[in-house]
Amino acid sequence: MRTQRQVVDYALQRRALLADVHAGRVAVEEVCDAGPYLLRAARFHGEPTEQACPVCRKERLTLVSWVFGDALRHAAGSARRPDELERLAALHADFSVHVVEVCNSCRWNHLVLSYVMGSGGDPDTGTGRARERRRTVAE
Ligand SMILES: [Zn+2]
Repeated sequence: MRTQRQVVDYALQRRALLADVHAGRVAVEEVCDAGPYLLRAARFHGEPTEQACPVCRKERLTLVSWVFGDALRHAAGSARRPDELERLAALHADFSVHVVEVCNSCRWNHLVLSYVMGSGGDPDTGTGRARERRRTVAE
């Protein structure tokens, strides 16, 4: 595995949101809103886990890795398998990866991790530096 930089773990936000859901402060429909695009990405590009869905507990969660960054051009904003991430990291200086967990049963989805991958790039010019982009994957 290539070095992952600027790793951000969203476990706290996830736990807080789940606590709100279980307490009834947030509606289940609000958090179980994975769209067909995300569900399809989970099916074809996702990594299965042993972890049960925290909302419905019926299905095991799938992790989907989305890649972002100008350097990726047409590949930006797409879901990639782990081996493809490695290949992209060898080809590009800098791009960010957002890992989203998805339940194919109740459509729960949440960002769990984000990090930067790539061969490095030139810190002086900042070329190839992935710009942080907020983007919903629930569309
Ligand atoms: Zn579920």
